[in-house]
Amino acid sequence: MTNDALPALADVVTVLEQMYDPDWARDWDAVGLVCGDPSAQVRRVLLAVDPAPVVIEEAIAWRADLVLTHHPLLFHPVHSVAATTAKGRAIHQLVRAGCGLYTAHTNADVAAPGVSDALARVLGLTDLAPLSADPADHTDKIVTFVPEAEADKLVDALAAAGAGAIGEYRRCAWMATGSGTFVPGEHSAPVIGEPGRLEVVTERRVEMVLPRRRRAAVISALHAVHPYEEPAYDVYELVSEPGTRGVGRVGRLATPTTLREFAMLVAEALPATVQGVRVSGEPAAEVSRVAVCGGAGDSLMDSVRACGADVFVTADLRHHPASDLRDQAGEGPPYLVDVAHWASEWPWLAGVANRLEGAMDAAGRHIEVHVSTRSTDPWTFRVPSPGGVVR
Ligand SMILES: [Zn+2]
Repeated sequence: MTNDALPALADVVTVLEQMYDPDWARDWDAVGLVCGDPSAQVRRVLLAVDPAPVVIEEAIAWRADLVLTHHPLLFHPVHSVAATTAKGRAIHQLVRAGCGLYTAHTNADVAAPGVSDALARVLGLTDLAPLSADPADHTDKIVTFVPEAEADKLVDALAAAGAGAIGEYRRCAWMATGSGTFVPGEHSAPVIGEPGRLEVVTERRVEMVLPRRRRAAVISALHAVHPYEEPAYDVYELVSEPGTRGVGRVGRLATPTTLREFAMLVAEALPATVQGVRVSGEPAAEVSRVAVCGGAGDSLMDSVRACGADVFVTADLRHHPASDLRDQAGEGPPYLVDVAHWASEWPWLAGVANRLEGAMDAAGRHIEVHVSTRSTDPWTFRVPSPGGVVR
């Protein structure tokens, strides 16, 4: 039996791709729908960082219809999904249970809001900006001239094709009234006027911005709806401004604090892990400006130095990048705070749940979204290292 109030998997994917456009993913990444039937109904969605066996089991026990994870299950190309490997088994379990799997990875890292925004916000940072900004989407402006009575219909059609979106505003257009003049040719079939006679028409000049990738669709919509046989239009390529998306975030604490207090704040804000929080720097040093990157961020050391951060919070910091940064800094900033990879990305899931549920509710389709609290951090215990040859 089907339930018309439930969305299809394809509807959920459409919403997810508005939040995390696959075009934003790095070209080495593997994002999107891994398995699942786009026409299947979705009642329950489980969110997790990793498509690990405990997560798949949780999804099946809860009778989830979709699992959304940050990390890809199939990152490297495979020739088989036989259940002889852990990944193949996961695919078999999901398909048997009628449960889809969807990945939003580097497209969620760079999104605004994205993975590092969530990390920054649980640490109480404000005035966030990307640590390493992606270029803004390339934008065009289309300008056309249309008889006054047809202007609204034209704006509607161009907006439906992707023009006129500025931030949270839709169907943005600028219009002015003027005169258009033409002489229809001998073989023309003008909507207004007749062949060979000078015509003057009161027209509206309509200007709308559009993402450059929507150019063909918008021009085609213009031709479809414009009443003229030969509509006049111009397309301008606009200068790109720095984008709001990008890897990592930099922001500031409401009140400056010491590195030790800040590390304790990080430990309290993130889920518990065996690793805990490792710090490099003088415990009493003051910190105020903070850079963060959910997941492995040691490729961002140059951006951390350039943005003037007092401290950088990330995961998977290796010996050489960490040592190089600290050696160059001497006694001063930037200091380093290293946390578990899973813990640094987990805060993102709560925001995904809110946005996904909200978008589906707005479309009149209620779904249940649950954030998995099972740790998929691979480390399970640690022992103190109190002594040895080097003390
Ligand atoms: Zn990650």
